[in-house]
Amino acid sequence: MHPTYPPEPWRIKMVEPIRLPTPTERREALLDAGYNTSLLRAADVFIDLYTDSGTNAMSDRQWSDMMIGDEAYAGSRSFYRLENTIQQYYGYPHVIPTHQGRGAENILSRILVKPGSHIPGNMYFTTTRTHQELNGGTFHDIIIDEAHDPADEHPFKGNVDLAKLDRLIKDVGAEDIPYVSLAATVNMAGGQPISLANLAETRELTAAHGIPIILDAARAVENAWFIRQREPGHADHSIARILAEICDLTDGACMSAKKDSYANIGGWLAVRDPDLAERARNLVVVYEGLHTYGGMAGRDMEAVARGIEESVEHDNIRARVEQVAYLGDRLIAAGVPVMRPLGGHAVCLDAAATLEHVPRTEFPAQTLAAAIYLDSATRTAERGAVSAGRDPVTGDHRYPKLELVRLTIPRRVYTRSHIDFVADSVINVHNARATIASGLTFTHEPSVLRFFQGRFTPADRMVQSRT
Ligand SMILES: *Cc1c(COP(=O)(O)O)cnc(C)c1O
Repeated sequence: MHPTYPPEPWRIKMVEPIRLPTPTERREALLDAGYNTSLLRAADVFIDLYTDSGTNAMSDRQWSDMMIGDEAYAGSRSFYRLENTIQQYYGYPHVIPTHQGRGAENILSRILVKPGSHIPGNMYFTTTRTHQELNGGTFHDIIIDEAHDPADEHPFKGNVDLAKLDRLIKDVGAEDIPYVSLAATVNMAGGQPISLANLAETRELTAAHGIPIILDAARAVENAWFIRQREPGHADHSIARILAEICDLTDGACMSAKKDSYANIGGWLAVRDPDLAERARNLVVVYEGLHTYGGMAGRDMEAVARGIEESVEHDNIRARVEQVAYLGDRLIAAGVPVMRPLGGHAVCLDAAATLEHVPRTEFPAQTLAAAIYLDSATRTAERGAVSAGRDPVTGDHRYPKLELVRLTIPRRVYTRSHIDFVADSVINVHNARATIASGLTFTHEPSVLRFFQGRFTPADRMVQSRT
């Protein structure tokens, strides 16, 4: 009855104790956090599925490489190792290290985006779009419509709708499109991949207009796995080869090494154009650090370099994606509405379907995330209207079609029994959904990235808890 679960290609050498708080402790912690799982203290969390960002367990090899990190301010040996590794696996000639992904986005956006710029992308990502907007640009979603339908089984829901992109180029003109921003996989759609065929077609269209493509490579290894599984002609290719083919079709990338690269911190910007690289090196000194460390310690660069090598190992990426699928399959078997097909790093609950009786103005996903925490001290993340923020022009809430609660699985951290514990809790909450009497309303709403620090209270001030 349980779906398959391949044995992990690692064993545990060091443990970190975790503790399940009591129901009373959970209720107090949630109140203190203003019903926002982002504001919970990690010590009040039992299973932490808030994010897979920087929460990876590093390998013994990564830890031992950290001991030989070169902390030279300029020209660190560890930088050259990292640069080499990125060139080898991602293929871009010019590498600019940053403290994490958004550092790369800041530098890229400051160089390429100006007031009046339009940036098309396969669905927005929070920090990416914020940097584009802070520099005066406007983001345009050019993902296929299927991506906005949680039930659609399209195998590549990260694909670009070429007609939407073509129309945008005609409407605003290629000269006001500094680049197309493509994510592989698409985080906000629940880790959905883009196909190589679609990437090649997008490339053809943009090249005809002289528009570069910048890849968000945070989970490009996971994307490569899905291409191997689902796209005809790639079943015998190595993950490293598919990753290189993805990057070959793009002009540069922003990378959060806290995702695919099994690191706890780190990132980079990499480009093919030497002039762009030069401008990026000039800016990285201002915002991150010298261009041979960019905000990372030498030891961090060692961990990232080794992590890149491990990330493309077949058994590692297989165990990673199949653990996510196992959780999703258990929920699907129990009738819990989840985003289909299952993504690479997360299972996303369709909160609008589970909490049909909670209006969108009362943030069903924020409400469901709070209920799951109360049930089992499992921390999840809202990915719906709260994350989408307000329209910068009209000031109104943006209500994306997807109102999701994301259960994001850290790499190499939890075992099957942890995943079963989470599945049982989510199934419990779903089955008792009628006891959730109302949604939530803001008591404090920050003006940027409001999902991180916003505070809420029950819309009717008396949410029922089952605990
Ligand atoms: C995490 C993430 C980023 C930002 O990276 P940070 O390292 O968190 O700054 C950008 N894009 C995607 C798709 C991400 O998942």
